[in-house]
Amino acid sequence: MNLFARKFVRSPHLLEVFGCYGTGVLYMTMSYYHLSKLELAIYVSIGLAVYTLLEYWFHRVVLHDILNTAHNNHHEHPRNLRIIATPILPVQFYDTLVVFILMYTFGKRVAFGINCGVAIGQIIMDTTHVLFHSNFRPWYLESARSYHLHHHFVKEEVCHGLTTPFWDMVFGTAPSTWIYYKKYPFLRYLQLPFPLLTFVIIGLLTGDQSKTSDSLVKNLKVKQEENASSSHVAHGALRSTNFVVSFSGAVLCMYWWHISNFV
Ligand SMILES: [Zn+2]
Ligand SMILES: [Zn+2]
Repeated sequence: MNLFARKFVRSPHLLEVFGCYGTGVLYMTMSYYHLSKLELAIYVSIGLAVYTLLEYWFHRVVLHDILNTAHNNHHEHPRNLRIIATPILPVQFYDTLVVFILMYTFGKRVAFGINCGVAIGQIIMDTTHVLFHSNFRPWYLESARSYHLHHHFVKEEVCHGLTTPFWDMVFGTAPSTWIYYKKYPFLRYLQLPFPLLTFVIIGLLTGDQSKTSDSLVKNLKVKQEENASSSHVAHGALRSTNFVVSFSGAVLCMYWWHISNFV
C-alpha cells in the first residue's frame, strides 16, 4: 500500500467525510438532470468560492471559539490523524443552512448546483488537511502545508484559511512573516478564493519543488514528535456509530432538500 493510501486508511474521519460528502456526487448526479454542463461548471465554481468563506469562518469562530475542545485536541496532537478531520455533524448542520438559504433565494436548481461545489471544497479541505500533517509531501501542497503549519506552530490567530489565504487577507488575519512572503513579496497580491489554486500557482511560480518549508518544519519537529508520542486511539465502535449517524444525516438532509417546496 502506498504512503497516501496508508495515511488515508489511518484517518477514519476521512472515510466519514467521503461517506457523507461522497454523496455530493449524488447531488451532482441529481443536479445533472436539471443543469447544463456549463451551468453546473459555473455553479460548482461559485460553490468552491463559497466553501472557502465557510471554511474560514468555521475554523476561526466555530473551531476556535465554540467547539474549541475538539480543535484544541488537534492543535495539541497535530500528528494524530485519527482526530484530524472536521467534526462532520456541525458541517452538515451549516451545510443544510446554506442550502436552505440558497434554495430560498435562488431556487432549488441553483442551490443544488452550488452545493456540489461546497461539498467538493469540503472533500478537498479534509483530504489536504490530513496530508499537511502526514509525511506525504508533494511539491504542489508545500506552500499550503507551510501556511497551515504557521497557524499551528507560529501564531494561532492567523492563517485560518486552510485551502486559500484569500479570506485571511480580507478579514485581517493574514500572517505578516510567512516564509513565502519573505522570500517572494509579490505573493501577497496573489490571492484567489478557490481551494488550493493560490498555493499550486505559488508552487509553479516559485519553482519550489523542494521542501522549502523544511527550515520552518525542522524547528517544530521536536514539538510535533512530542505530541505524536501521546496520541489518542479512537474507539472503533464509536467511529462506526459516527459514520452511520453522519451518513444517515447526509442522506436525510438531501431527501429533505429534495422534497422541500422551493421552486
Ligand atoms: Zn486551528
Ligand atoms: Zn491542522
